[in-house]
Amino acid sequence: MISPASILFALVLAQGTTVDVLIRAGTVHDGSGAPGRTADVGIRGDRIAFVGDATAAGVRGTRTIDARGLIVAPGFIDPHTHVLEGIGSAVARTPTAENLAVVRRQALSAITQGITTVTISPDGRGPIDVARALREAEAGGIGVNIFTLVGFGSVRQRVMGSSSAPATAAQVDSMRRLVEQGLREGAFGVGAGLFYAPQSYASTDEVIAVISAARPFGGVYDSHQRDESSYSIGLLNSVREAIRIGRASGLATNIGHVKALGVDVWGYADSVLRLMREARAGGHPVVADQYPWTASGTGLSAALLPRWAQA
Ligand SMILES: [Zn+2]
Repeated sequence: MISPASILFALVLAQGTTVDVLIRAGTVHDGSGAPGRTADVGIRGDRIAFVGDATAAGVRGTRTIDARGLIVAPGFIDPHTHVLEGIGSAVARTPTAENLAVVRRQALSAITQGITTVTISPDGRGPIDVARALREAEAGGIGVNIFTLVGFGSVRQRVMGSSSAPATAAQVDSMRRLVEQGLREGAFGVGAGLFYAPQSYASTDEVIAVISAARPFGGVYDSHQRDESSYSIGLLNSVREAIRIGRASGLATNIGHVKALGVDVWGYADSVLRLMREARAGGHPVVADQYPWTASGTGLSAALLPRWAQA
């Protein structure tokens, strides 16, 4: 197997070559996990064309950036962000200069953090009409790469409204068809936010029945899990549920913004990791992403209103 590092450091251009941008003398972290090393990086068009010692190789840049003392790295992927929420609707519905400017600003907030790829569908939300959303994002001049998941919440809302009833067989069928359509149109898997109403009304088995429609396409089950604390089924049961849903659906599981939320579950992080390791040892791929901060955030109604009041 060729590692990313060996590809990267095999990029050597002919003597005397000019690149569009030459980033000089930064500490390059190539994403392989290898220690950083001082190197020059040459970019031509939208491709990395050179990594190495530009002086020795005689590579010059039309534009040169002095990166001494700075880190040079591939763009980060943010798998759980709301930064572009609404792009598929507001902008393309009304592609005014003002809307486009808003989008650019929002993309800018990602890019200035070094993030070049974001999701547009966290927490089981996001567009059902995946092809259209991707088309509109591109037409809007979006400044970052995006990927989307089919939102279980969006699908359930479309078919059942805010109903707290269990899905009938016919409703499960309708939801499965929407999941299949989204995957066919380019979604990377299925997301759910079982903490939120009306997704919270779905039983474990209902979720599996619906999202297993994605199995032939592969991809990921991304979960804002049902309980990150002690609100309903408890953190550890919730982790078990997320893993069970992913495994039964045949999708790799990502536990979104994994955390032990609130004093009731402080100290549970080791137990969460143990459940994940056990699942992995059993052959089911489970990963997680994590906030880079110690606080948490959600909507006011989700935090304060009981779920029975939201049906
Ligand atoms: Zn979330």
